[in-house]
Amino acid sequence: MGARILVVEDESDLAELVAFNLRQAGHTVNTADNGATALAEVQRQRPDLIVLDVMLPDITGVEVCRRLRRQEATAAIPVVMLTAKGEEVDRVVGFEVGADDYVVKPFSPRELILRIEAILRRVSSPGEEAAPQTITVGELVIDVPGHRVEVEGEEIILTALEFRLLLDLAKRRGRVQSRDALLERVWGYSPGIETRTVDTHVKRLREKLGAASGYVETVRGVGYRMRSEP
Ligand code: CA
Repeated sequence: MGARILVVEDESDLAELVAFNLRQAGHTVNTADNGATALAEVQRQRPDLIVLDVMLPDITGVEVCRRLRRQEATAAIPVVMLTAKGEEVDRVVGFEVGADDYVVKPFSPRELILRIEAILRRVSSPGEEAAPQTITVGELVIDVPGHRVEVEGEEIILTALEFRLLLDLAKRRGRVQSRDALLERVWGYSPGIETRTVDTHVKRLREKLGAASGYVETVRGVGYRMRSEP
């Protein structure tokens, strides 16, 4: 089942490469080479997903994403950001404005397509994601209603907070979560304070997870991500 994907990138060679590979994978692709065209295209064709370069000739990809998120009709469209190496600040801002994932240039088309398809799968099965009973990642099993966690068949005793943190990451597995986002959802804090609290708790959580500790990955300059596969 193909999706309608809008590729926003002003480097025409790269746009063509991405579009070609997405079409090969069975998707329908439109392209835009600046932010204003991208916003107009989104209104016109309501794509299922947008691949959005950060550096565009008119407005930045970050600003495009921000505007999409502000409008109800476009707020839920998944966005994958393309960033250049070293655009650490843009990356963080990209997540703050609600990008679903990012890929750093230079990237392999295969990597980009895997990321895109993982997002499309999540979006197409919202029912399963809304109320999961059990989340399994390799040897890690989370019994959601029972508040129980097992690693390699052994029960791990977590505090209520550690359980909430693990569950929050697990529900959004494959997607990076900023420290601010975690603070807000898991701790109920307003963003911008005490981000070190998150690091401390992730460290303790990893220690308890033992053999499954590697599933909680640190994404430098951004936050944490639970792997979707072992
Ligand atoms: Ca560019």
